[in-house]
Amino acid sequence: MHRESIISIDMGGTKVLGCVVNSKEGIIARVKKPTDPTSSRRKYVHQLAEVVYDLIEKVHIDKKKIKAVCLGVPATLNPETGVIGLAPNLGLKNFNIKKMLEAEIPFTVLIENDVNLGALGIKNFGVGKKAKNMLAAFVGTGIGGGLIIDGKLYRGSNYVAGEIGHMLVEKNGPKCGCGMKGCFEAVASRTAIVNKIIKDIKSGKSSKLSKLVKSGERIRSKSLSSAVKYGDKVVSRRIKEGCDVIGEVLASISNLLNLDMIVLGGGLIEALDFYMLPLIKKPFSEHVLKDSAKGLKIVASKLRDDAAIFGGIALAEEFLGVRV
Ligand SMILES: [Zn+2]
Repeated sequence: MHRESIISIDMGGTKVLGCVVNSKEGIIARVKKPTDPTSSRRKYVHQLAEVVYDLIEKVHIDKKKIKAVCLGVPATLNPETGVIGLAPNLGLKNFNIKKMLEAEIPFTVLIENDVNLGALGIKNFGVGKKAKNMLAAFVGTGIGGGLIIDGKLYRGSNYVAGEIGHMLVEKNGPKCGCGMKGCFEAVASRTAIVNKIIKDIKSGKSSKLSKLVKSGERIRSKSLSSAVKYGDKVVSRRIKEGCDVIGEVLASISNLLNLDMIVLGGGLIEALDFYMLPLIKKPFSEHVLKDSAKGLKIVASKLRDDAAIFGGIALAEEFLGVRV
């Protein structure tokens, strides 16, 4: 017999991760399913409903014990109305996903930006438990941020707060997915760092990753990590450059908000925290105001993909007042 729970679904571009989770037992069941983001809205929502039913069947949980279905969406959105503004990786725009999914399943649907959910998960169930003012920064394909101010998720005036990936760091710098130039994530995300490494290799510099580049294979965080461990100069140099920018931007954010904790996560940090954290802390301490950095901790998240899953519990508590 399981306790009252929620179903948390992390919506990725090509797959979704769904979990039954509660604060006492943690994650009880997981289902990962590929989704086709090019399919119609109705088909996509139907795929989400299937994940919900698969999970219920897997844990044999009484439907009455499921208090909500929480969606973590890589998008701008309105958590009050359930409308997704723009989800570029899912091909969704101006879409009330809450309404359509609630028509398919007998549960209340809540939605939140996936990075915000990650911050909520870290604050309530991860290394951020004691933090009052916290930034969770995720470095991977892009760079995302979630802000906890005075113990609560800070959403801003249009629910778009925390978009640190689009802070300007290099005038006329590389083009960003958002259409502007020189954004933080266009300069220091894994994608940006990998692009620079590929350019280096193509210009004749020798690297452990030369083979991967020649074969056109994707360079993942794991390959970067093993190249660094091997002492690869090209890779190490480009990652260090990225860390310099990350450290400087985090120092600026700290000066603005006077945080007590910065939690770093995302694919690149997960694979390289041993190497990157010290390289981020150095430029950080050189650029931050001493009084602002007093007692501030910079740590790596340990929850990985589960941060957003756990965040669903805090979301359900906030919007529905339920304790699971
Ligand atoms: Zn941008």
